[in-house]
Amino acid sequence: MPSRRRFETRAIHDGQEPDPTTGAVITPIYQTSTYVQQAPGEHRGYDYSRTANPTRTALERALASLEEAEYGLAFASGMAAITTAALLLSPGDHVVAPDDVYGGTYRLFVRVLQRYGIDTTFVDMTEVAAVERARRERTRLIFIETPTNPYLKILDIARLSELAHAHGALVAVDNTFATPYVQQPLRFGADLVIHSTTKYLGGHSDVVGGAVATSRADLYESLKFHQNAVGGVPGPFDCWLVLRGLRTLAVRMDRHAENAARVARALVEHPRVTRVFYPGLTDHPGRDLAARQMRNSGGMVSFVVNGGGAAARRVASRTRLFLLAESLGGVESLIDHPASMTHASLVGSPLAVDEGLLRLSVGIEHADDLIEDLRQALET
Ligand SMILES: *Cc1c(COP(=O)(O)O)cnc(C)c1O
Repeated sequence: MPSRRRFETRAIHDGQEPDPTTGAVITPIYQTSTYVQQAPGEHRGYDYSRTANPTRTALERALASLEEAEYGLAFASGMAAITTAALLLSPGDHVVAPDDVYGGTYRLFVRVLQRYGIDTTFVDMTEVAAVERARRERTRLIFIETPTNPYLKILDIARLSELAHAHGALVAVDNTFATPYVQQPLRFGADLVIHSTTKYLGGHSDVVGGAVATSRADLYESLKFHQNAVGGVPGPFDCWLVLRGLRTLAVRMDRHAENAARVARALVEHPRVTRVFYPGLTDHPGRDLAARQMRNSGGMVSFVVNGGGAAARRVASRTRLFLLAESLGGVESLIDHPASMTHASLVGSPLAVDEGLLRLSVGIEHADDLIEDLRQALET
C-alpha cells in the first residue's frame, strides 16, 4: 500500500527500518553472494544475491515508496533497467518513442532491439496526433521521457497514457530528469516508471544504477523474472550509495530547481545567448503542462550561444565551476556540449542538435557563483 507519510519522510524511512539483528540505524551493506539454508530449499527469503540481497531490497522498497508504486526493482544501470523493461515485448511488437529520447535508449531500440524484431518509431511527442499517426496494430509500448533531453520539452503523460491504453499499449516513463520528488508518472496513468539512479537519485556522481517501479502485479512478476534471468543487478555497495542519495533528494531538488531558475533568467538577459530552454520560463511552450505535471521545473537548463559550434565549444571549455562532463544530477554543476558529447552520435541525422547548444546540469553551489562563472565564460 502506498504510504500516507509525506515524500520527505518516506525518503528517509521507507524500506530503511533499523537493522533487525543489530539495531543499526543505517541499512548495512550486505556484501554477500549467498545465504545459509536451514534445510535444502528452506531459507529466510534470500538464497543468492542475483535473485535478492537485503541492501537491494531496502533500495527497491524505498524507490517504490517514492514513486507511490506497489513494487520497485533496482538494476546495475539505467540502461539495464530500460533493457529489462523492453523484455516485456516480443518479436513483431512496435514501440513509439520521443525523437529526442536519451541517446543510449535510442541506440538500444535501433541497434539492439531491432535485431530481435522490435521496431521503434521516433516522433515529436509534444504533438499527441503524431503519436496517433505513428501507432500500428502491434504498438505495445509508448515510451515517454519528460522533460526531454537536451531541449527540455514537456510531454503530456496523461494524454499519451489515455491514447496508449485505448489501444492496449503499455506506457513507460523515463523519469530520470524530473525524479519522483518533482513528478510521479504513475499518477498520470503510466504503467512503468524508469530511472537512471546514476543521476539525481544517487545525486553525488559516484554510482551508476537504474530502477523500475510499477503498481501492476503482472508486470512486476515478469520484470522480476527477467531481472533474475538476465542478471543486470546492482551490487550491495551501489544500492547503499543510492539509498544514501535518496534521503536528501527533496532538499537537493528544491535547491537544483531554485538555482536553475536563477541561471535560466540570467542567461535570458545575456546578449550572447540567443535562446534558453527551461520549463519554468514564461515563454516555454510546455510551461502550463509542466505546472500541472511537475512540482518544480527541475535542475536542467539548455541554451544556444551566438557564434555556432566554435563559440559553444569555447564557452564549455572556459567555465570553471561548471565542469565539462557528461551525465547530470550531481550536487556539482556540469556543462555539456551535446553536439560533440552526449548527442554526438546524432550529428548528420535528422535528429541532430544545434551546434551552438549547451546543456547545464545546475548544481547546488551558490547561484551567484554559478551565474558569475557563466558570465566570465561567455565574455572571455
Ligand atoms: C543517463 C540516462 C539514462 C541511462 O542511464 P545509465 O545509468 O547511464 O545507464 C537513461 N535515461 C536518461 C534520461 C538518462 O539521463
